[in-house]
Amino acid sequence: MAVRQIVSIDEEKCNGCGLCVSPCVEGAITIENGKAKVKNEKLCDGAGFCIGVCPQGALSVEHREAPGFDEHAVEEHIKQNPGTYIPQVCHRCGRNEDQVIVLPCRNRGQSIWVCTGCLPALIHG
Ligand code: SF4
Ligand SMILES: [Zn+2]
Repeated sequence: MAVRQIVSIDEEKCNGCGLCVSPCVEGAITIENGKAKVKNEKLCDGAGFCIGVCPQGALSVEHREAPGFDEHAVEEHIKQNPGTYIPQVCHRCGRNEDQVIVLPCRNRGQSIWVCTGCLPALIHG
């Protein structure tokens, strides 16, 4: 155990929509009984890519004692759960992260993914 960054989920705010599941490439988040849960803390690297997509503001990154992030556990988890990796898609052009770099953005209360090609148009209108 060491003090590190790890995702925290506020169950009071979480409505179980599941939007935070696929942005996590490690597959660390699951929905159980209508609430998001970090299924295994070793799978969470604390990068926080899930945070921007939550419409409820239920996700945050906290600094606390937790088991270390384990890349081998992630590899094993993905091998055993092949549907874990879901490529994120640019809301504007439809290309996915296997084709372009996509970034999570917030816009008028919505969480969207946008590729670097479409970002200038989003910024400049
Ligand atoms: S995106 Fe937010 S509200 Fe939706 S399941 Fe995840 S934590 Fe809950
Ligand atoms: Zn795009």
